[in-house]
Amino acid sequence: MRSSHDLHNALAARAGVPTLSLDAPTDQMISPYLDLFEERGVTALATTLDTVRRILRFCVSSGRRLDFLRKVVWSGPALDSPGHGLLRDHFPHLRTWSLFGSPETWIIGHSGPHCANDTVHLLPHQHTEILNGRMLVTITHPGAIFPLLRYETGVAAEWTLCPCGTPGPAVRTHSRIDAPLDPLSHLVSPADLATLALQTELVDAAQVVVMDPHTEDERLHLRVRLRPGVSCDLYTAEWIRHHVMSGCLALSDAIEDMPERFEVVVSQRLLSEGDGGEAPTLVVREGGAQRTRGGLPPLTRRDLSTPSLH
Ligand SMILES: [Zn+2]
Repeated sequence: MRSSHDLHNALAARAGVPTLSLDAPTDQMISPYLDLFEERGVTALATTLDTVRRILRFCVSSGRRLDFLRKVVWSGPALDSPGHGLLRDHFPHLRTWSLFGSPETWIIGHSGPHCANDTVHLLPHQHTEILNGRMLVTITHPGAIFPLLRYETGVAAEWTLCPCGTPGPAVRTHSRIDAPLDPLSHLVSPADLATLALQTELVDAAQVVVMDPHTEDERLHLRVRLRPGVSCDLYTAEWIRHHVMSGCLALSDAIEDMPERFEVVVSQRLLSEGDGGEAPTLVVREGGAQRTRGGLPPLTRRDLSTPSLH
């Protein structure tokens, strides 16, 4: 059981309402679960972000409505833009709250229905720094589950003000590989992988491409442009892969049982590359289309028509 379940249950107990437990459902389980919830008068759903996404996608694809539900609370990383689009386009009546964090940091922030996308308010039991665009957290609570000292969260972030009216600065988060499904649920920073590739001195530029996130086919490509004169062969790609895997324990651990989920792809061009050769560090490709992450320039028609990675 995830520790966030305890929190959700405590919240319900404090509100004086009964709860029904929900395991991480398969697609076959979602419909019976929703039938039960509707029959029992459930009005709020509190679960992980992955389960929220899974349920919403199931309902959209099967035409199922969620009129009985009023509120959704999730824990985990911030909801991405497609997730916000699902809610906005299909379930505008749902009011959403998030508890932002990871298994390493526990809950460190929160957002509500009036907050901006990807924006969280930080909880007071910590000291948060944003150093070179990276979010570092030090837990100051004496009863902290995990004592963290300037912990690198793997989250790219910037200070911002949230339009919801909550006083104090908020944090806008982005550019984290936060796919909640195995094997990429571990903290893996695109910038770190690119840096490791550059360390081989074979690589001129590198880019992380997440393929079909949140699906069974989810995989990670490290797309590299080689330096002039470097031989473009299988040995080169395998050496870069070996170096990156050796330098990123989180990645090697995450794909230990499925090594085919991480691949080095040698190419003359990175995806969404500008005329000057600059390209985003992270690109997400879903169903053949791609999008950049992390406050990067909007996609062009040419980007979206990129036929293939190879
Ligand atoms: Zn807010």
